[in-house]
Amino acid sequence: MEELSCFLLPMAEKASVPVVVHFDHGLTAEKTRLAMDLGFTSIMYDCSTLGFEENCKAVAEMVREAHSRGISVEAELGHVGSNESAAEASSASDTSAYTDPEEARRFIEATGADALAVSIGTAHGAYRAAPKLQLELLRKIAEVVPVPLVMHGGSGLSDDDFRNAIRDGMAKVNIFTDLNCACAKAAHDFYQPGCGMTDLIPHLTEAVKEATLKKMKLFGCVGRA
Ligand SMILES: [Zn+2]
Repeated sequence: MEELSCFLLPMAEKASVPVVVHFDHGLTAEKTRLAMDLGFTSIMYDCSTLGFEENCKAVAEMVREAHSRGISVEAELGHVGSNESAAEASSASDTSAYTDPEEARRFIEATGADALAVSIGTAHGAYRAAPKLQLELLRKIAEVVPVPLVMHGGSGLSDDDFRNAIRDGMAKVNIFTDLNCACAKAAHDFYQPGCGMTDLIPHLTEAVKEATLKKMKLFGCVGRA
């Protein structure tokens, strides 16, 4: 984390648009506090494997601390599982639990969190079978939750899945696997015997940039900063 913050923070400062440097999935208070100490401007404190009351209590405490330092907090209610841990091909991981709208409303009221990751049928990592998004559930959550909703496990969804989810209330989309794979594919495509990492890096950068731009166009976020 220290290494990351060393180059991410100066990069963010140079950007011509507003940028948050976000620490995703802080699973312990200790790591999450370290991220704040290192200068991350946004943190996720993920207590989604705890019961509702414990999740509320832990996040409320972290929100007080983070807000006093001018840092925003994302929390998660319901649990977005991982495709890697799913025992068999299914629409979402067997470790996922959908978010309940009424609980989500109470959760935000009780914690003061700035954004909420919700579980509506996505899972982290590469999908083995096409995920089936629970859009009706998403609309119900969006109706009663006053803060931006966050989609985790976005990689591998179809363009229509994204359009529908954004239309129905998703305000932030987390993408990693798709960009990671674009980078690896470029390494494969541009490798030639005798070439070094420094020869590849410009191609990798360009591949990630292209994949990111494609997603930005799809999400409708180009030119809106
Ligand atoms: Zn996530």
